[in-house]
Amino acid sequence: MFNDKLGEECGIFGGYCKSSNIAPFIKTGLFKLQHRGQESAGICSGAQFQTLYKDKGLVTDVFDEKSMQKLTGKFGIGHVRYSTQGESNAINAQPYLLDYFGGQISIAHNGNIKEASEIREELEKSGVIFITKSDSEVLLKKILFEIKKYLTEFQENLIFDAIGTCLNQNFSQGAYSAIFYLANKVLAYRDPFGYRPLFFCEAEEGYFVASENVAFNELNIIKIIEIQAGWGVEINSNNYEIKPYAKVVEEQKCVFEHIYFSHPDSNTFGLSVYESRIALGKLLAKNDSIGENIKAHIVVPVMDSGFISAVGYSKESGVPLEIGLLTNPWVGRSFIEPTQELRTIKVKEKFSAIKAIVDGKKVILIDDSIVRGTTAIETVKMLKNAGAKEIHFRLASPMILNTCSWGVDIPTKEELIANTYKTQEQIARYIGADSVKYLPMEMLQEYFGQGWCYNCLMTNVGVEGCTQHTKIAALI
Ligand code: AMP
Repeated sequence: MFNDKLGEECGIFGGYCKSSNIAPFIKTGLFKLQHRGQESAGICSGAQFQTLYKDKGLVTDVFDEKSMQKLTGKFGIGHVRYSTQGESNAINAQPYLLDYFGGQISIAHNGNIKEASEIREELEKSGVIFITKSDSEVLLKKILFEIKKYLTEFQENLIFDAIGTCLNQNFSQGAYSAIFYLANKVLAYRDPFGYRPLFFCEAEEGYFVASENVAFNELNIIKIIEIQAGWGVEINSNNYEIKPYAKVVEEQKCVFEHIYFSHPDSNTFGLSVYESRIALGKLLAKNDSIGENIKAHIVVPVMDSGFISAVGYSKESGVPLEIGLLTNPWVGRSFIEPTQELRTIKVKEKFSAIKAIVDGKKVILIDDSIVRGTTAIETVKMLKNAGAKEIHFRLASPMILNTCSWGVDIPTKEELIANTYKTQEQIARYIGADSVKYLPMEMLQEYFGQGWCYNCLMTNVGVEGCTQHTKIAALI
């Protein structure tokens, strides 16, 4: 069995709650971020001492009444994990909690650290022992290893800058949004490329940080601020401060957050994800009107990933939207199954075509992306079996051509169908559709502009999909 798990897309939530234990707020926040990871969930909270509870499973499975009773205290952090880097077991669940010279410190991290294996090797040579395979443990142990260079003793007022400097100097190629809980503080950092999102919320209930603003929906919000690349936030019991810790040379916001990953109700990187997906669907329809007119009867989304772009396509083209494919809500993600056989079974279990809708129809079928082609092959087959006359598959993203070194779970280059079948016609034949059209790269780039990472969609980058980034100079 090959390991096709490369990235570390996760969800993080943390902060300080003014009047009660924070754990229930973290649980709700993590539940709102469940789309960012279904492998495991964890919360670390406390007052004088931190308590950590984490396990494999969904947020609602991991945190029952008994586990929640153990999680007291007004400060805390939490994590939902999308099993990628490292093996899929409870030991790789986050947060991590360690002792250090100032007391206890815990971390919850979203992203991928490019330097992780090098730094791990170097630390192991110095006698540091690791218990997990995750980048996050490397991140935390390297920080604790280095921090004494910046602090002679534990000085609470200098800790934000000291951790920021460590991050900067040792993980300058990394993609991370990371939160730390230590000494009655929660500290959060977004890497200077800004690959992964990070938000701050001041609410009546307290101060919070999260991967996406959708996580704050249950709070009585006073204000929400998106943390910029190279900036962080320090949360104390009576105040907070949002401040820079690194110079930004080149922003690299992950475009896949808008294509697939972020929740439609989030404003990731300053843009509404819902509006982006509507716009991409409209652009797809515009692109279709340039070519041959296929006079389709209906637009059908691959739920849920293609839903919003299908709405955009339908609005622009005037072709009515119909739910011709239903998803079974009890089936988990097919994409992360470890073998092709299991992925195919999951997709078959997940979708069913509605004969009453699609029989005899020319269908525009819309999804956000094709990766290995499993979903496309099976959904086209189902619709044809249900009587669809023609299927024209449309993708609200360009071809995926590269793996991701910064946290999105994309399999090996060899498995990506756009690398095996080079043209839209070949891909259409492979998946059994009457035609396939991807969103042209120029249209995507025109919509999002500069300062975004498009590497997974580009041909002119290496196996790791990376351009060499310049080292980031520390501000402090
Ligand atoms: P595939 O079936 O391998 O072609 O994968 C494409 C399907 O998986 C589409 O429905 C996407 O919405 C979804 N998808 C794309 N990227 C990812 C990802 N990184 N993790 C999970 N699902 C994804």
